[in-house]
Amino acid sequence: MNIPLLDLKAQYSQIKDEIRQAVDEVLESQQFILGPRVSELESEIATYSRCKYALGVSSGTDALLLALMALGTGHGDIVITTPYTFFATAGCIARLGAKPVFADIDPATFNIDPRKLETLLEKMTSEELSRVRAVIPVHLFGQMADMQSIVPICRKYGLKIIEDAAQAIGSECPFGGGVQRAGSIGDIGCFSFFPSKNLGGIGDGGMVVTNDADLYEKMKILRVHGSSPKYYHRAVGGNFRLDEIQAAVLLVKLKYLDTWTEARQKNARIYDELLSGVVSEHFRTPAVLPGYRHIYNQYCIRTAKRDDLKVHLRENGVATEIYYPLPMHLQECFRYLGYKKGDFPEAEEAALTSLALPVYPEMGADGLEYTADLIRNFIMR
Ligand SMILES: *Cc1c(COP(=O)(O)O)cnc(C)c1O
Repeated sequence: MNIPLLDLKAQYSQIKDEIRQAVDEVLESQQFILGPRVSELESEIATYSRCKYALGVSSGTDALLLALMALGTGHGDIVITTPYTFFATAGCIARLGAKPVFADIDPATFNIDPRKLETLLEKMTSEELSRVRAVIPVHLFGQMADMQSIVPICRKYGLKIIEDAAQAIGSECPFGGGVQRAGSIGDIGCFSFFPSKNLGGIGDGGMVVTNDADLYEKMKILRVHGSSPKYYHRAVGGNFRLDEIQAAVLLVKLKYLDTWTEARQKNARIYDELLSGVVSEHFRTPAVLPGYRHIYNQYCIRTAKRDDLKVHLRENGVATEIYYPLPMHLQECFRYLGYKKGDFPEAEEAALTSLALPVYPEMGADGLEYTADLIRNFIMR
């Protein structure tokens, strides 16, 4: 049996006519930049993520960059984030001349550990604290970071929060006695519409969301080279616009997002069940915290035999991926930060043991059983 990590062709075949029609309408209109579809998508995503404002941008990376720029991040600043994430999170901080500073993850969830964040802040000098521009929790694999703990810590130190929700559109966590959606808790939330995200375009795209009118206005201007009115520049921004074609496709796909998410969740539950017999301290399935809505952009298991298991699955036709093989603090480009191996043991351990299994919505029960059987046999032998 051949099982890809993600099957976008299966998804496309279900909505092909709608997508082609939506793209065709854009072609007929010949309006490609910041038109009615981008505006409509912005209002739909604002509603979906339960935020007041949303702005379509060119990618998840540019969403992060724009958010950091709107908070005035620049040379000499510090931005705190997790060492276990996709490169863009840390890359955007460095691109603005600020210093990425890391706090280790909670091994149960792969997300930044609020206690490590608090310890880091406690150890900072007041001079360093004055330079901390923001904290970026990443909602990795589709489960939100522990915002209930992170927000009070950031408030105590007066720090802004940018949520990297690139993998987490529609995920929820307990907050303030209720439940809140990814992107709606921090000062700014960032989404990616990269094709492999739960809501993926036919190319690059992203979105920033906020409840803060001032930040919204700032980002709106920075998205078009800081221009307001046109050709008069109040600040140096960039071209961070979302295309009308992407917005048209995303508007079609958004209608299916919850159905797809439910299919991912169902697949995850089937894995959980099929693999429950081999769970031990040496093999773990993903932990879902009580009250959280995990949207399973990835279903990541953990085992010390990860590399051999990956080969075993590949030899039997099952594709997997390692997210991520090298934590940020050990990346060559960040050597100047002065971190060394052992600085963030949980992130380093996760990089050695985590493996993402196929969990895409169109995956059938036979594929899940086949994959789980291979894993069970491998772990028990
Ligand atoms: C995908 C991703 C990004 C970047 O999004 P792009 O649209 O690919 O630029 C940023 N952070 C995380 C955690 C991601 O998974």
